[in-house]
Amino acid sequence: MKTTYTDMCNHLRNPELKLCEVNEYTVRQGFSEHGSSWIHIGCPFCKEQSMTTAWSFAGSGKRCENSNCGAIFGLSGVAYKKVVNE
Ligand SMILES: [Zn+2]
Repeated sequence: MKTTYTDMCNHLRNPELKLCEVNEYTVRQGFSEHGSSWIHIGCPFCKEQSMTTAWSFAGSGKRCENSNCGAIFGLSGVAYKKVVNE
């Protein structure tokens, strides 16, 4: 199940509800041959690498590219993944 920005906001507003798992993600920065800045994000939940541009990430954050994971990488260095109660 995908984590939405609403899930993330609800979690931040009510952390005691534990709507999301929270984990720090790892970031590597690099530059393409055109000089644009890329960010590689290592998902702490599924270990996949996601890639985005610095300006895109700063504007809207980033979602894990693994569609089975769907965690959201926030701007503060932590990732959010919705807790699914089965
Ligand atoms: Zn992931």
